[in-house]
Amino acid sequence: MLKFDRVCFQYQQNKVLEELSFTLGHGEILALMAPSGFGKSTVLNLIAGLRMPTSGRIICNAQKIAYAFQEPRLFPWLTVEENIRAVLNGDGADSVIAEALEAVELIDAARLYPAQLSGGMKSRAALARALAFGGDLLLLDEPFSALGEEQRTALAKRLRETFRARGLSVILVTHQSTDAEILADRTILLTK
Ligand code: ADP
Ligand code: MG
Repeated sequence: MLKFDRVCFQYQQNKVLEELSFTLGHGEILALMAPSGFGKSTVLNLIAGLRMPTSGRIICNAQKIAYAFQEPRLFPWLTVEENIRAVLNGDGADSVIAEALEAVELIDAARLYPAQLSGGMKSRAALARALAFGGDLLLLDEPFSALGEEQRTALAKRLRETFRARGLSVILVTHQSTDAEILADRTILLTK
């Protein structure tokens, strides 16, 4: 599905990634862990094609990539439901939206606007939008960071079932080893 081959990346003089190599198999759930500032979000941006490597190669044969960014990036003038609908094309949208909201336990908030949501609800809405968007590769940047311990564990278990049922390949960025233990098949640690 995805291969990083000695990928280097730097912002001006700031070397962020040095010869990073890893692979992600089809249907595999990989956790990417590192302290803040080590380049986790940069790795996801490279996969999504928002940044280009300074050197090295990224080989990706995903058909369609869904990306839940580190910040929820919800449209403030749309409700949760409308935020999800905005990334769908008409056909069967209602059932796709309902399914995605159910996967993150947010059905009751469907008609609320982002300003009416807690931090954890916003990140779950963004996660639901990425799930509804579909695709075969899902990039999740610290999706549980605004959730409490108990909530994140329950959601991680639930999502694991959803990912498996859909055969999704997933990269989960987290700095919590418990998330990785519950969700991921494998964990890689970024070092400096
Ligand atoms: P993480 O997600 O692991 O916290 P990031 O990938 O966001 O790390 O950032 C890695 C490094 O790159 C940090 O030192 C950060 O300050 C720097 N960085 C991130 N985005 C930019 C940018 N747009 N311009 C310049 N430097 C950046
Ligand atoms: Mg980050």
